[in-house]
Amino acid sequence: MRLDCSRPIFSIVSEEAEAMGVRAYVIGGYVRDQLLGRHSKDIDIVVEGSGPELARRVGRRTGSNVAVFARFGTAMIHSAEGEEVEFVGARKESYSSDSRKPNVTQGTLRDDQLRRDFTINALSFSLQKEDMGELYDPFNGLEDLRDGLIRTPLDPDMTFSDDPLRMVRAVRFATQLGFRIVPEALESIRRNRGRMSILSPERVSEELHKILMSTKPSVGFDLLDQTTLLELVLPELSGLKGVETQDGRGHKDNYRHTLQVVDNIVPHTDNLWLRWAALLHDIGKPATKRFEKGTGWTFHGHEVVGAKMVYQVFKYLRMPLNEKMKYVQKLVFLHLRPIALVQDEVTDSAVRRLLFDAGDDIEDLMTLCEADITSKNDRTVARHLANFQLVRQKLQEVEEKDRIRNFQPPVTGEMIMETYGIPPCREIGIIKDCIKDAILDGIIPNDRDAAMALMREKAAELGLKENV
Ligand code: ATP
Ligand code: MG
Repeated sequence: MRLDCSRPIFSIVSEEAEAMGVRAYVIGGYVRDQLLGRHSKDIDIVVEGSGPELARRVGRRTGSNVAVFARFGTAMIHSAEGEEVEFVGARKESYSSDSRKPNVTQGTLRDDQLRRDFTINALSFSLQKEDMGELYDPFNGLEDLRDGLIRTPLDPDMTFSDDPLRMVRAVRFATQLGFRIVPEALESIRRNRGRMSILSPERVSEELHKILMSTKPSVGFDLLDQTTLLELVLPELSGLKGVETQDGRGHKDNYRHTLQVVDNIVPHTDNLWLRWAALLHDIGKPATKRFEKGTGWTFHGHEVVGAKMVYQVFKYLRMPLNEKMKYVQKLVFLHLRPIALVQDEVTDSAVRRLLFDAGDDIEDLMTLCEADITSKNDRTVARHLANFQLVRQKLQEVEEKDRIRNFQPPVTGEMIMETYGIPPCREIGIIKDCIKDAILDGIIPNDRDAAMALMREKAAELGLKENV
């Protein structure tokens, strides 16, 4: 079978490899995606010789910069067509059991294909003039691609224990492509779970991001759960599993609910961090669960506890502890607010407070809350959605009127200190809060004169004298 290799970069690589007297092949994800009709930007080239040398020659021809990663024996260029092309020498690898640092020696195409993770990722095609585009498929990857199967080229115990990330990758590809992991591999993952301890968390979180960015993330998390990896990679999520009953009353299974929320949010956002917020929004529930006679099951304060737990999750998965994490924390912390709002009367004052607290993330918060409706009763869902529609409308009206979204109180601490000739002290906080509350509650308008007047009133109450 021959594949299409009409891209200009392929002829250049082919000619340069020939001039060097070595054989080069396209391998891995690019070949797989071409056969599946999926778009892929990166191209991996494996060469029976030096990857960096071939890259330098190709770079000279195309006038592109070559980045050489000497430690890995790889090199990368950006082609004129905007593709990222990576060159690597074919290798033969063997691993020792206590680390994932392999002993690497030079090898043939077949050796290199053997150390690939899955048969569908070991597919390669030739860049030799005599059989340009010819498929090299020693492990029946093409058949597995047709049948939708994730299978390792070697005995799965070997592939997985050599680099345990491949277990998570198996789940990730099954999720992205809608494929099945073959039973031998599934069993092997369960057997090799102990090897997960040697992985660096960054590599795991990269795979979790890809699962979250797929069209049905629940498939991936369920597979992680079935293979018992979930409690290792995201114990807070597996901790949501199960239903307890007391006095004949149960609560919903928060794990199933959470996965439903994540699937629900997919069509409404491509923002990875909003999807993370959906995944983590209820993680505070197990720690706050109580059974109250008369009321039933409650999870008071789970949004507060959950927001704190977000930090731990981000920390051990080595995800950024920056504004991305703060954003996820904020959404988890606020996720009950719009619901609370529709349960009471939707007052302007409550809407202003929500706008003030959510700021520019108000849209994302509403998206999360709408995804959070998982009732099986269509009428209930429709009623909740209609209520949220009302909230959205109110939010817009109030924002147009009062501009609260990026609200900065019109009287600052400095202005108060200057007016009364006082150093930083408790009274300043009291006056500022009083002004903020009055504006949010609609007692005074959001302008300077009204705020100054209230400042004077409050200051007099506190016994402060104006600086003259
Ligand atoms: P995508 O780019 O969509 O994530 P991909 O298959 O291209 O999918 P990459 O991580 O870019 O995945 O890796 C490129 C190729 O390198 C893979 O197709 C596979 O052949 C090989 N590969 C990547 N990671 C591993 C690994 N941990 N073990 C074995 N082979 C791997
Ligand atoms: Mg790739």
